[in-house]
Amino acid sequence: MPKRIIYWFRNDLRLHDNEGFLKATQDADEVIPIFVFDTRQFNEIAPLGIPKTGAFRAKFLLESVQNLRDNLRKKGSNLLVRLGKPEVILSEMARELGVSTIYTAKEAAQEETDIETALSKKLKVYNIDFEVFWQSTLYHPRDLPFWVSCLPDVFTDFRKAVEQQSKIRSTFAEPTAIPLPEGIEIGKMPEIYELILFSQLPSADQRCVLPFKGGETEALHRLKTYFWDNDQLKTYKETRNGLLGADFSSKFSPWLAYGCISPRQIYEEVKRYEAERVANDSTYWLVFELIWRDYFRFITLKYGSRLFKASGIQYNLEIPWNHRRDLFEKWVNGQTGVPFIDANMRELKLTGYLSNRGRQNVASFLAKDLQVDWTWGAAYFESQLIDYDVCSNWGNWNYVAGVGNDPRENRYFNVYTQAKKYDAQGEYVKTWLPELSNVPAGLIHQVWNLDTTAQQQYEVHLGYNFPLPIVEVNKWLRK
Ligand SMILES: Cc1cc2nc3c(=O)[nH]c(=O)nc-3n(C[C@H](O)[C@H](O)[C@H](O)COP(=O)(O)OP(=O)(O)OC[C@H]3O[C@@H](n4cnc5c(N)ncnc54)[C@H](O)[C@@H]3O)c2cc1C
Repeated sequence: MPKRIIYWFRNDLRLHDNEGFLKATQDADEVIPIFVFDTRQFNEIAPLGIPKTGAFRAKFLLESVQNLRDNLRKKGSNLLVRLGKPEVILSEMARELGVSTIYTAKEAAQEETDIETALSKKLKVYNIDFEVFWQSTLYHPRDLPFWVSCLPDVFTDFRKAVEQQSKIRSTFAEPTAIPLPEGIEIGKMPEIYELILFSQLPSADQRCVLPFKGGETEALHRLKTYFWDNDQLKTYKETRNGLLGADFSSKFSPWLAYGCISPRQIYEEVKRYEAERVANDSTYWLVFELIWRDYFRFITLKYGSRLFKASGIQYNLEIPWNHRRDLFEKWVNGQTGVPFIDANMRELKLTGYLSNRGRQNVASFLAKDLQVDWTWGAAYFESQLIDYDVCSNWGNWNYVAGVGNDPRENRYFNVYTQAKKYDAQGEYVKTWLPELSNVPAGLIHQVWNLDTTAQQQYEVHLGYNFPLPIVEVNKWLRK
């Protein structure tokens, strides 16, 4: 009997730099690549009544899986696709097909690792091995200069230590031959409406920063466009806080979230760019941001389920979060009466993407100004963000809500100051709030102060075609 291995693709939907998959092709005579759409990932989040995976993310995931299947077919293999609970489907399949081992990518957060444990238990009964490969970060956890349990709680301490003492491993080559056993049912790709309710399907909004399409092929194309064709890496540090357009930042995040691109692949490309074009603060800064991504992944390993509780990784029980649905709904729908917040929330709702600056401001507004339980905001982001990544999302929300690892006490975003700084001409706000298009730049971020004559002149009628603010806002102007 030939040695058979199942390779279970999860958030590592790529062929390049995929250690686990490469190893499967080297260790076995036959490899069965499979992706399982975990139906639990599409359930509603109680009590918010929103799907755990919203339409933008579902569409991106489907495209990524389809692209992986296409790329495997080009190599003479294929990708099996199933819908259901991975631990049940995979253990039964392994038993039926006489598989010796299941290989997969290791995840960091609770739900995902619970599934690993459940699968491993089921496999033990059949005497089938289970091997996991850590392949989602720049630095491998085994190469860190400390145990994960002793991970520094301040990012700068972590970054300096790894930069000085750890090495980033090289990428792995793509597998060449991938022999698939004959006679196995490949499985049909699900339609998007089988995963989420049809009524939630989004239409493409032309204002979206980029027409994001899932898959490794698109990811590598974006890397080439951003670095080499448009030559944007050399100015990344200056432009990364932008709000409009495709190239103010890399937009690698959705592909990184599903593992369509490996962070080490990006790193090696940065090094090549530095050798062939220029090495400067900007080229370094992209790597710096990828280290942030690593950090939240290791923080997740260190703190486990605490990441998902309102008390956060600090276990801070002092903050009296409220559960006002009315405030939360206004935030979600971009109806707070604060133009900068509403523009960002409408962009998120209509496109599934939001700039880092936007995310920081809306998160701070929900947690610090509205004092709504921040876990609701994080859950909404989980549903809506096309680049949702469990560690980056919940880690950043902990941080902004003041229950994470921000060493600064009571850090607070003055939304008015932020809006004036990052959207000085009001272009961003006008893009997403066309009802404010006649308001001059100098007044647009404090539209709530327009008197009746000005409201008539600029065709903004507070409380009618633009909401009155739901918090006391002039405090920002006084500071
Ligand atoms: C409240 C909140 C929630 C967030 N949720 C997510 C999320 O679910 N998924 C996600 O990928 N990022 C998240 N981020 C981080 C960051 O906003 C996005 O990674 C970034 O905006 C994606 O755009 P980009 O790829 O153009 O980023 P770039 O500026 O081009 O950065 C390059 C890469 O570095 C990483 N990165 C950059 N900033 C951060 C950061 N603060 N934390 C972790 N990684 C970072 C990302 O992988 C990003 O793709 C969140 C930030 C906040 C404040």
